Amino acid sequence: MAEFNFATESTRFECTRCASCCSLDVLLSDRELHELGKDADMKWRTTRKVMAGSGLVCCLLQLHSCSVYGSRPKLCRVYPFFALAVAELELFHIEIPGTAVRVRGEDGEEYVLTYDDRCPGIGHGRTNDWSEIVSTVLSHLKEFKATP
Ligand code: SF4
Ligand code: SF4
Repeated sequence: MAEFNFATESTRFECTRCASCCSLDVLLSDRELHELGKDADMKWRTTRKVMAGSGLVCCLLQLHSCSVYGSRPKLCRVYPFFALAVAELELFHIEIPGTAVRVRGEDGEEYVLTYDDRCPGIGHGRTNDWSEIVSTVLSHLKEFKATP
């Protein structure tokens, strides 16, 4: 069974701009695929990858910075966090610790936040605007479902 790192009120994050997440596959909505055009990989629904050093990275990464930072894909905005519906986790009998942050989404559902602990920004900086992260994830899922 998948192991989750649940965010708590004491979970801190500040991006160190290491760019290591720009090697990961970001699932794009249809709107994002359309807007990114030639920079999107239509087959895998992610940004196109190019060789850099010994590995593949997003083609939009230039000089160690995102060249579309202001309009970057929504899942890039929320990384290393993601929101999961409490009801879905319960359906799969996944235990949610009592300390996990819970946020009521605009759709009325309750969400918890999980994070990717490979991100070196975890444990640094400030606390997070959990509602904003949930809102961004929900808006991404809506765009994803709204298109065929
Ligand atoms: S892996 Fe984490 S710290 Fe590094 S750029 Fe991505 S979000 Fe920032
Ligand atoms: S769009 Fe920007 S933030 Fe997202 S993976 Fe590409 S370079 Fe990184």
